[in-house]
Amino acid sequence: MRHFRLIIPALWLGSLIPCADVLAGPAKPGGPSASAPFVVVIDPGHGGRDAGSRGALLLEKDFTLRAAGMLAALLARRPEVKAILTREADTEMTAVQRVSVANYNAASLFLTLHADASWRPGARGPAIMVAAPRRPPRVAGEAARAVAFRWQRSQNIHLASNRRFALSLQRRFAAIRAGEKPPVRILAVRDLEGARMPAAYVSLGVISTPEDEARLSEITEEDTYLTALARAVLKFAGLTEDLPPKPPAPAETAPVESTQAPVSSEQPATPETGAAAGESPQSEPDAPVEQNAAPAGEGR
Ligand SMILES: [Zn+2]
Repeated sequence: MRHFRLIIPALWLGSLIPCADVLAGPAKPGGPSASAPFVVVIDPGHGGRDAGSRGALLLEKDFTLRAAGMLAALLARRPEVKAILTREADTEMTAVQRVSVANYNAASLFLTLHADASWRPGARGPAIMVAAPRRPPRVAGEAARAVAFRWQRSQNIHLASNRRFALSLQRRFAAIRAGEKPPVRILAVRDLEGARMPAAYVSLGVISTPEDEARLSEITEEDTYLTALARAVLKFAGLTEDLPPKPPAPAETAPVESTQAPVSSEQPATPETGAAAGESPQSEPDAPVEQNAAPAGEGR
């Protein structure tokens, strides 16, 4: 799997840090409300030059963007929840940038959405991953190293909450799949490192399997997996699981948009005319090289 490295299979999750998680759970006095909503940051995996996995037609980065927008819209039906996306366009982001959005917004839950590929013919269905515990550094090193370890270990105090969310989601997904439980894996997931709140990596299907790709391609806001995920978030937030019907679309505002259109036409078509070399004009220096560094398939 290209977007994270597998480092430590966790065998001892249950025995770690039994009490710190009490402080880390989402429950707050009085619970979330419209004035003090439960903040969930939803990360559409991949983006920009990092297309993620591929189906015959569908790119993972496009699917995750659509699915994350729909999940945010589902949760927006509840005023006690505030959903924030890490990206709303085909933007390239590092793993650190994604998690930083959640930290900056003091989110109570961070979800990164994916649609993994598999080399196993017939592999299908969702999968859930949460961070494995990290050991502290054995030797006190220089400051930068200490900071790096602190970043990596920030999930340690949320292990129990992560597991609670993952198992709740697993039950909901299993109900959709005639009882077939999707895997919950406890791994060193790079996309979750540094998140200072409970966090999970959710793959909504196997994009390389035609059956799943067709389902993912046709995803709608009422999709059973998305609504299951939204209800798991509500449950985790300590809320009821009601999802009110989709609100009616606002009245057409086409005239407003059309009056604004001419304003942007004052810009000459610089990107087109300037692309003499045929290369992409944007070669950002801060591109996350490591993000594409592990194309070694994934381990299902
Ligand atoms: Zn992915």
